Amino acid sequence: MYRSDPDGGPDAKKMLRLTNTLTGEQEPFVPQDKQTVRMYTCGPTVYDFVHIGNLRTYVFEDILRRHLASKWTIKHVMNITDIDDKIIKRSIETGKDIKSYSAPYSAAFFEDCEKLKIQKPEIITPATEHIPEMIDLINRLLESGYAYREGDSIYYRISRFPNYGRLSKLDRRELKIGARIDADEYEKEEPRDFVLWKAPKDPREPRWEAPFGEGRPGWHLECSAMAMKHLGETLDIHCGGVDNIFPHHENEIAQSEAATGRPFVRFWIHGEHLLVEGEKMAKSKGNFFTLRDLLEKGYEPLEIRYLLVSVRYRKQLNFTFDGLREARAALDRIKEFLFRLTTAKVKAGSNPKVASALSRAREEFEAALDDDLNTSAALAAVFVLIGECNIVLSAGELQEDNRAEILKWFKVIDQRLAIIPPMEQLVQSDQEVEALIARRNEARRNRDFATSDRIRQELLDRGVLIEDTREGTRWRRK
Ligand SMILES: [Zn+2]
Repeated sequence: MYRSDPDGGPDAKKMLRLTNTLTGEQEPFVPQDKQTVRMYTCGPTVYDFVHIGNLRTYVFEDILRRHLASKWTIKHVMNITDIDDKIIKRSIETGKDIKSYSAPYSAAFFEDCEKLKIQKPEIITPATEHIPEMIDLINRLLESGYAYREGDSIYYRISRFPNYGRLSKLDRRELKIGARIDADEYEKEEPRDFVLWKAPKDPREPRWEAPFGEGRPGWHLECSAMAMKHLGETLDIHCGGVDNIFPHHENEIAQSEAATGRPFVRFWIHGEHLLVEGEKMAKSKGNFFTLRDLLEKGYEPLEIRYLLVSVRYRKQLNFTFDGLREARAALDRIKEFLFRLTTAKVKAGSNPKVASALSRAREEFEAALDDDLNTSAALAAVFVLIGECNIVLSAGELQEDNRAEILKWFKVIDQRLAIIPPMEQLVQSDQEVEALIARRNEARRNRDFATSDRIRQELLDRGVLIEDTREGTRWRRK
């Protein structure tokens, strides 16, 4: 369970609104038990490195998670699909078993998440560790007539579930009921009876024993079984990318609700697509990027995260190299401001003009995130404050309490959006270090030891060691 600093205040709890794909409307969100948000997000299928489009979804879910955690306790579950058609195919091709084939991609996924400051869910569920729960769910569906056997595999009977298509708004007349599909992914966008348990076709395929014959679970089944095991029959929130709505999430609803007779999810929340330079990403177009590809080109993880955060999750995001450069410029503005703020010579007390600008910025920031995670408006509130404070700093009118309050708020921003450059990056050039040392020496001459100690600590925080000698102050980087 995770809960961050509840800086949203008590009123904020009432105000969060999220767009629920199920109704197509923005609705006020409160966890069912008023305390703990039970959230499930579809994790990666670990057959390869994830791409930047996948990462956009994980970053959006991270922003949601962080914002929810500022109001309530959160229990977040994410699966790892470590068995599916692609993994089996590639593991056979490479002569490995599925575990040794997929484990490095699973590890790479968590490395990518860490680089992009995506928080880890409380519970991570590899599909291959939940086979008994999946077998149990299939048994329930077989007993109630929602599942049937065809050959040695088990399929879901869509015609038995009248609500099918409700999430994706598919017209039921389009359903090709009884036309079965065996693959984890559909070839075309056609709803058809889908596989719950696949009998092995190749002797090298991994398999598990089950009362209805040996085989392995279908992809859709995995999420239903694991979500309900860890979060109960009705979840507060289930997230994914828009490409998961059909068929994956539609099938999850069909399986879960048929088994329990209860609503599976209260809020379905989906992140929009990411385009690269205005086009759909495709390996053949040369616009397909993993995080590793972008880091190799010299971009920083924080710049990439900033770009992903800067567009609200419900809008398509056009990922461009110009956008990355703009992200770098925005981060530089934040860095310069924090550097100026922390090193400025200020008087004790509080300038009421700055105090009220700060409280307005905080309110706007919270209101923006409460408004269906409007991250671009939240960032705008931060930059308005930076602009106002820069003017006050130039006039020498920012005061010590303002500085402390602003720095405190930037910690909150970082808890929510995780886009504030680390303090050790603030001092970059030698001139900046020299300027700080000059300020410290001036403070010492004036016997203002509080200031001189503060500057020494600031330099230390940024990896700069100083030493006072007879010849003056020397410094070096740690
Ligand atoms: Zn899923």
